[in-house]
Amino acid sequence: MGNKTFTIIKPDAVRNGHSGKIIDHIIQGGFKINAMKMVQLTQDTAGGFYDIHRERPFFKDLVAFMTSGPCIPMILEKANAVEDFRKLIGATNPQEAAPGTIRNLYAKSIDANAIHGSDSDENAVREGSYFFSELEIF
Ligand code: UDP
Ligand code: MG
Repeated sequence: MGNKTFTIIKPDAVRNGHSGKIIDHIIQGGFKINAMKMVQLTQDTAGGFYDIHRERPFFKDLVAFMTSGPCIPMILEKANAVEDFRKLIGATNPQEAAPGTIRNLYAKSIDANAIHGSDSDENAVREGSYFFSELEIF
């Protein structure tokens, strides 16, 4: 069990003015922020990030959504980070996300679902280094 995970506050949440509340929710949840920045993804960077979903029917819409405005990637630290963070954000579909989770509070639909969370230690490392260089990680 690793102590790092990776997240992105997605463009819908940034656009709707929820990023401050989401960052506070993450900190109050016991996570330390090791890296954070605001970026505008391109077709290539969004497609590369979601490469695993390239053959899925929603891939094109997902890339369009992720490039629709700035987003906020972060590397987070906490014991049992990946599992605990998936609990903090709730189910992919906000309609199924448990009360009080970030997606329950701030997401409107399964595609515009406010936030990303890595699904394994291996992906947390891969995704973190996709966005951040060593000098940007504290
Ligand atoms: N997604 C979508 N439609 C779907 C499933 C997923 O638009 O039917 C989007 C959604 O933004 C989701 C992302 O693709 O967060 C990645 O899907 P995944 O199944 O990995 O969900 P997550 O790990 O983000 O909960
Ligand atoms: Mg996933």
